[in-house]
Amino acid sequence: MGRDTESDLDAARQRLVDRLVERGYVERDSTERALRAVPRHEFVPDGSRRRAYEDTPLPIGTGQTISAPHMVAIMTDLLAPDAGDRLLEIGTGCGYHAAVVSEIVGPGNVYSVEYHADLARESRERLARLGYDVHVRRGDGHEGWPEHAPYDGAYLTCAPQTVPETVVEQVRTGGRVVAPEGERVQTLVVLRPTGSGIERETHGRVRFVPMRSG
Ligand code: SAH
Repeated sequence: MGRDTESDLDAARQRLVDRLVERGYVERDSTERALRAVPRHEFVPDGSRRRAYEDTPLPIGTGQTISAPHMVAIMTDLLAPDAGDRLLEIGTGCGYHAAVVSEIVGPGNVYSVEYHADLARESRERLARLGYDVHVRRGDGHEGWPEHAPYDGAYLTCAPQTVPETVVEQVRTGGRVVAPEGERVQTLVVLRPTGSGIERETHGRVRFVPMRSG
C-alpha cells in the first residue's frame, strides 16, 4: 500500500468539503474556506491519515475522538464567528476544530481549555507546528477561561448535563454558545445571552464524549 502524498490528501479534502456543501452541512463561506484549508490528516493518528477525509469521527487516543467533519461544519456555522472575534473552546482534543475556527477569526483569538494534560500539550505543539496561533490551557472547562473574557462566542466539544453557567457568563451580550447537552440522549443547543436573559434554540440529536467534572 503506497503512502498518500500531500497532494492526494489535499485533493481528498477538497472532495470531502464538496460533499459537505452538496449535502447542505455548510452554509457560511468562511466555514467552507476554513474546512478547505485545515489539513485534518495532520490531526489524526498516523494510522488513520487515509481516513481523515471520510466524514466520520476518529479515535485520537485517551478514549477521545475528533468530531466528524460535518459536525464541525454545523457547529462552526451556528457559532457564526467573524474575523477578529475572540472565541472560547472547551475540549481541545486534537485541536482540529480550534484550527478551523482560528482560520476564520485569525491568529491569537482562540482560547481553548482541555481536561487531559497529554492532549493539551500535544494539541498545543501540533497547532504551533502547523502555524496556528491558538492558546491552549489544561484545565476544567466548567471554569471557562475568565482571564480573557468576554468572548464573542464559545463552544463545547464535550457534553455536559447543562452548559455551565460560568461559560455562558464569559460570553458577551449578543454572542453565542454552541454545545451538546445531555447524557445518553444529547441535543445541540445554541444559547444567546441578551440584555434580559438567555435565548435558547435546539438543533437536533448529537453524540459527544461526556464533559468530565472534578
Ligand atoms: N474539538 C475536538 C474534539 C474533542 S473531543 C477536536 O477537533 O478534536 C472532546 C474533548 O473534550 C476531549 O479531548 C476531552 O478530553 C475534553 N473534555 C472532556 N471534559 C472536559 C472538561 N471538563 N474540560 C475541558 N475539556 C474536557
